[in-house]
Amino acid sequence: MRRERKPVIGRSDGLPHASVATFELGNALGEWGCPVCRVTRRAAERWVWTLLYEHSGDPAVHQAMAETGGVCAAHGDLVQRVVAGRQLASSGAVARLYHTVVDAVRQRLDEGSRKVSGSRCPLCVREQEMGKHAAGILAEALKDVAWQEAYAESDGVCLPHLELCLAALRGRQRSWLRQDARQRLDALQYRLSEYCRKQRYDVDACITDEESDSWNEALWRVGGMWSDTLLVRDDH
Ligand SMILES: [Zn+2]
Ligand SMILES: [Zn+2]
Repeated sequence: MRRERKPVIGRSDGLPHASVATFELGNALGEWGCPVCRVTRRAAERWVWTLLYEHSGDPAVHQAMAETGGVCAAHGDLVQRVVAGRQLASSGAVARLYHTVVDAVRQRLDEGSRKVSGSRCPLCVREQEMGKHAAGILAEALKDVAWQEAYAESDGVCLPHLELCLAALRGRQRSWLRQDARQRLDALQYRLSEYCRKQRYDVDACITDEESDSWNEALWRVGGMWSDTLLVRDDH
């Protein structure tokens, strides 16, 4: 994540919500970028922390980690950030889990298995599930007019999560969300074209902040949002 907008504290306060997940989504609407990506990332960080703090000695968890072959490169980066940035999540816990992972990989290598590295990254699988779940909750919440108004003022969701939200909606609400997304894409395309145009040597025009940020916006809006800092801290 490159841009930080001042969070609208308690954005959720004025919204009807039925669960902790909805409350968190409501607050995420007050921050920059895709609210579904944001709550999914927060959940992934909590998952890593809980894994390291509570489950690094659990035989069932070791077995599951051995089968999956550990986490992918992107989630390896997240594990490192959680160890470096959170209390009680120790490097020793990672070492204990990966002692088992490495042992399983050695066995698969000895057995001549075609798939030595194991199955899919457990955190990739979990993030996909959590994203689908959060998108479903957001879609349900968007049936309410107050949520629609808060959503319209937010940055909206990325395209992968837009597809999930659209799939969960029908009729008028689906049309509304599709139209909202179309308007956001129209505006983004205009900013991209203005940024490209104003960079030409023969054009003497001031590039706005939104235009200079348009390529960053295009990256997260089309592909999903990422974070190079922890979103969950020890003090909240
Ligand atoms: Zn997203
Ligand atoms: Zn992964």
